[in-house]
Amino acid sequence: MSKSITILGATGSIGTSTLDLIERNPDDFTIRAVTAASNVAALAEIARRTKAELAVVADESLLRELEQCLSGSGCKAAAGETALADAAAGDADLVIAAIVGCAGLKPTMAAVEAGRTVALANKEALVTAGALMTDAATRNGATILPIDSEHNAIFQCINGASSQGISRIILTASGGPFRTSSMAAIDNATPAQAVAHPNWSMGAKISIDSATMMNKGLELIEAHYLFGLPSERIDIVVHPQSVIHSLVEFVDGSVLAQLGAPDMRIPIAYALAWPKRMETPAERLDLAGLARLDFEAPDAMRFPALRLARSALEAGGAAPTVLNAANEVAVERFLAGTIGFTDIARIVEQTLNRDVSPAPRSIDDVIAIDQATRRRASGLIEEACS
Ligand code: NDP
Repeated sequence: MSKSITILGATGSIGTSTLDLIERNPDDFTIRAVTAASNVAALAEIARRTKAELAVVADESLLRELEQCLSGSGCKAAAGETALADAAAGDADLVIAAIVGCAGLKPTMAAVEAGRTVALANKEALVTAGALMTDAATRNGATILPIDSEHNAIFQCINGASSQGISRIILTASGGPFRTSSMAAIDNATPAQAVAHPNWSMGAKISIDSATMMNKGLELIEAHYLFGLPSERIDIVVHPQSVIHSLVEFVDGSVLAQLGAPDMRIPIAYALAWPKRMETPAERLDLAGLARLDFEAPDAMRFPALRLARSALEAGGAAPTVLNAANEVAVERFLAGTIGFTDIARIVEQTLNRDVSPAPRSIDDVIAIDQATRRRASGLIEEACS
């Protein structure tokens, strides 16, 4: 029997890799719904090509255009926030949560609340809503399968083992494009330099997060919520080759690691086929060809985002929501050329320092804190630029 799949963020980098795997295995999967923010032409093309039942564009003003692009295809068109959440909650065997940023929170939560199996790439949704999302998953019998390569690696290593047997998790980090750069070079980094990741081909936002190492900070928080370990039992090690995707140390001193080529189709395939395995066209590892694997401690001076994320996790309350929202604003402004590269962490830190929000008790609280933080971070940027 084929699995029905909904892809939230079908037009993005994760969406495209997911579609590549699905289209190589047409007998195993059917597409129920695909979504995008505003890229109507690409969304309609995907919907036609995959014979999707439903295509949803987040921008309501684009409904007519989507309808026109889908005319005669048999695929239904819908638009707006509610339609997006309905598509996420709709009947599908697996929902791929691959919207970028906090924009993915409501649809991902809708899938979780509907008790779906959710393959989570959208780390910001979990970082910003943390325990609210994992509690909702437990309450509603939803399963969260991590797609992020590090968390997917940990998930594979744990393989259902009891958390009492785990002593710590070690997240690997490539170190990004500025791993060996001087502070002065990092200070002058351009968006084009920052987006050019040495090992992975990804969307713009996560590429910048990798360059600041905020990505590893978000992943630290993500790991805490997915695997229930406190900050002090989640370590980060820089591993420039991105071959070991993460490791789990057990109480007896055994360490299990998951290795593979740096190709997101491997963790995505794991989620698509779970609990089985499927073939992928990913390059196979040639260990003799690689010859060596390197490891180093992350440099907290050049990459302060890591420290900020760890402090936010340890502070708890609204801090992870604030960290995430301030970072989204700062990354957007860096990509737009308004602020410099090192301003990203600076803005996040200043925003966190000024925050007095109470801990969110509902998703509406999270959204309110997210929006207030965005205004505060934007204000700080305007002040700094004036
Ligand atoms: P992309 O920028 O490539 O794609 C983002 C997708 O989300 C697009 O389909 C986009 O639609 C859609 N989208 C953007 N904004 C909104 C919105 N406001 N409402 C609804 N849909 C929206 O991102 P990636 O695929 O790189 O990343 C997706 C997520 O996966 C991120 O959270 C990232 O951290 C995570 N991730 C990505 C990895 C990668 O290799 N790319 C690896 C591990 C995790 P449109 O095309 O119309 O703009």
